[in-house]
Amino acid sequence: MSDRPIEDQSQSEPLDRQTQAIRAGRDHNGRALAPALWATSTFYAGSVDEARAMAADVTNPTFYGRHANPTVSDFETAMASLEGAEAARAFASGMGAICAIVLGLCSSGDHVVTQHQMYSHTQLLFQAVCPRFGIDVTFVDGTEPGAFADAVVPGRTTLVFAETPANPKLSLVDLREIGAIKGPVTVVDSTFATPFGQRPTEYGVDLVVHSATKAIAGHNDAILGVVAGSEELLAWIRGFAVLQGAIASPFDALNGLRGIRTLPIRIRQQSTTALAVAEAISGHAAVDAVFYPGLVSHPQHELAVAQLEQFGGVVALDLHGGVDAGSKFVEHLELVQLATSLGGPESLITHPASTTHAGLLPSELEAAGIGPGTVRLSCGLEATADVVADVSRALDAL
Ligand SMILES: *Cc1c(COP(=O)(O)O)cnc(C)c1O
Repeated sequence: MSDRPIEDQSQSEPLDRQTQAIRAGRDHNGRALAPALWATSTFYAGSVDEARAMAADVTNPTFYGRHANPTVSDFETAMASLEGAEAARAFASGMGAICAIVLGLCSSGDHVVTQHQMYSHTQLLFQAVCPRFGIDVTFVDGTEPGAFADAVVPGRTTLVFAETPANPKLSLVDLREIGAIKGPVTVVDSTFATPFGQRPTEYGVDLVVHSATKAIAGHNDAILGVVAGSEELLAWIRGFAVLQGAIASPFDALNGLRGIRTLPIRIRQQSTTALAVAEAISGHAAVDAVFYPGLVSHPQHELAVAQLEQFGGVVALDLHGGVDAGSKFVEHLELVQLATSLGGPESLITHPASTTHAGLLPSELEAAGIGPGTVRLSCGLEATADVVADVSRALDAL
């Protein structure tokens, strides 16, 4: 029996990604089959020379916990493998990762291009924090063909940041367009897709970022972020991350690794349920519009089919009757719980206008496509029929 990491053993053919999800990230397990939790802040050195060598490399997982940690490093290796990237860096949260990308790669005088419809706190970072550091941000309609590329200012734009499918209404950005932009560093927040829905690096996108809090950790028990990309860009990001200090906790990284093992089958199940819900409620009298890229009626369905292998577990809808209908609907639900987050085993619902996006101005809400009656449903792992029945019953009661 070999002590080599399992994923390296006797593989002449590249492993399918579903198999990679099972085998990747086992470098620091010893012979334990399950990921080992390295709950230590620091590691001792045997000599001054050894200590100097340990300190010199921020990827050394056995020097100091703010630089790296064996459990976290295994999660990073697994994520890099699933994204088809050279390297990855884990963070304390998705926002920790996004802040490190933006503040680690941009300087005063730089320009960023991003989109209107996106995760609310990423938007606040671009809108409220970047200007304080002299970083100019242009927001475009990410669904408009060529909008990102047209907004790039040659020599000044350092970052192009897209989110697809976008929170909360699942609008899509064409990955071919983002990947074709040369000059600025291109980033895709791929949280809603996971590596089993899309692989932005295959389109030439430089960095892929996830809130691993969501489907990747997948059990509503971790706050975790990760960014994957080339070794060169990751070196920059790590250099900033060590100072920023938003490091992933070993325990959350352990939950991330545990989540990765079942990610492909969970995404399939959640996508099945989401499509069933979207189809069941389309045309309901209480519903103005349903947003799900898997629906043939979705305005970007063709693009969805081209770039998404799984349409994902999130469905958004606009209820007829605004805030009042939104509040009543979420309270009529019995199985689906009112809670922020997505991608976990429990089906959850949010009403962005009164919760996650409550800090935005009406004009910003409109630009993000969020109406007073917009609700976002994250389908969990319950039986599909039970989720469909709960949603249908709550709509009938409006
Ligand atoms: C949740 C989320 C984030 C932020 O992640 P945290 O782990 O909560 O910091 C970023 N982007 C998207 C698309 C998200 O859904």
